[in-house]
Formats: sequence, C-alpha cells, structure tokens
Amino acid sequence: MSTITIPQIWNEATLPDINHHFAARPPQELLQSARETFGESVVLATGFGLSGIVLMHMVSQLQPGIPVFYLQTDLLFAETLALRDKLAAQLGINFVEVHCGLSLAAQSQQYGEALWERTPDRCCHLRKVVPLRRYLADKQAWITGIRRDQSPSRANIPLVGWDTANQLIKLNPLAGWTRQQVWQYIFAHHLPYNTLHDRGYPSIGCEPCTQPVTGGDDESAGRWAGREKMECGIHTANYALADIVNALSR
Ligand code: SF4
Repeated sequence: MSTITIPQIWNEATLPDINHHFAARPPQELLQSARETFGESVVLATGFGLSGIVLMHMVSQLQPGIPVFYLQTDLLFAETLALRDKLAAQLGINFVEVHCGLSLAAQSQQYGEALWERTPDRCCHLRKVVPLRRYLADKQAWITGIRRDQSPSRANIPLVGWDTANQLIKLNPLAGWTRQQVWQYIFAHHLPYNTLHDRGYPSIGCEPCTQPVTGGDDESAGRWAGREKMECGIHTANYALADIVNALSR
C-alpha cells in the first residue's frame, strides 16, 4: 500500500499522487478524505443506478448530511421515483432535485414534440448537462458512481480527476469495482434497488430512451438503443458552448 501523504490541495497538479494514494484503498477512505478536504462543497450525484446506491449507503454511514442530488428530467420511470423514496426512508437522505427549469410542454413548444426521438443529444443537453453545470457552479468537487467496466468509453476513468467541462474535482470512488461487486454489496447490506433490473433493464435512465435487453448485452445496452449515442453528456466534455449559453439565459 502507498505511503504517499495525501496532498493538502487537490488540483490537477496533485491528482497523480492522490490517485496513487487511494488506488489500493477502500472507497470509504476516499469518500472520507474528500469530505474532510471539501467540507460542504462536495456533493454526491445519483441517477439511482446500482453504484449510486452503494455510494449512498457508504456516505450515509460515514458522512450523514452530505448533499445527494439527482437530475429530474421529468421523464424518469415511476419505479425510479419509488426507489428514491425508499432510499430516503432507509438511509435518511434528503435528496436535492436538480431541474432544468424547462417543462416538457415548453420544450415541445420550442424544439418540437418528442425531442428525444429526433435529437437526443440536444434533449440531454437541455435536461441534464446544463442543469448539472448550473448546480455544480459553486461546488468544489462532485462524486459519481461511474465504473470502468460499464462501457469502453469509461475504461480509463481515474478515481479522482479534473472535470474540465464543469471546472471542479470529480471523484469516481467505484471506478475499479465490477458490476458483480456492486450487486454483492447491495445484497450484503439489504439495500433496495430499481425493480426494473429484475425485468431486464441493466441500466436505467429516462423512460423514452431506456429499453429492456436480452441476456448477454453489456451494461450500457438498452440506453438509446439503435443509436450511436452512448452517453448523455454529463460524464463527457462534449459541450456545445452556444447551447449552454442559450439555455442558461432562458
Ligand atoms: S435520456 Fe432521453 S429523454 Fe432523457 S434527457 Fe436524454 S434524450 Fe432526453
């Protein structure tokens, strides 16, 4: 195990030492250290996926009170909202709902009906990417549940990185965990999970863009099925600046 001391300041220059230090340590140590370093200015993001449930449990044990937020797109499954309520009751989490401020009716009026069918990148941008940027603007660090085994585009994510798009530290404490480890943790701690997983949905996002899959498909299958799109954009730096400026000024 590394004997490197954790740098006092977490920034692009110190990230290699920080990653080295936590590489072989349990995610709880990284979560604890982030809380000590950033205080109230570190927040946990969740889309109510499996990894997020694990992190919410760890955080509730270690640091009750840490803000846990989710992006309310108005298109989440009823099962996802039911899971939110169960987690709130079981883990004592007060969720922060982050909304884009654009109703579905207003979106239809401005961009046409069912934007997700015609231009899902724009829809994700309006309903996820922009509100995320706005919410993170006064934060110093955010924690996510993304893992390297989820998709080829996430194969090289670090434990701790610099989020260029949002200009803050991004922690991925379960980067090196497998889907099997995550399920084992959930069962071992008797945690609730989205019942859609039992009906063939490996990954669950907005209802219009999520489908059940047959066995053998990878975890990202079933999201934007039939399209090249693999990510909603909140974990990539793929921002069209003009769209952000337009949306923020609305
Ligand atoms: S996942 Fe689909 S419905 Fe949700 S914001 Fe993206 S394109 Fe829109």
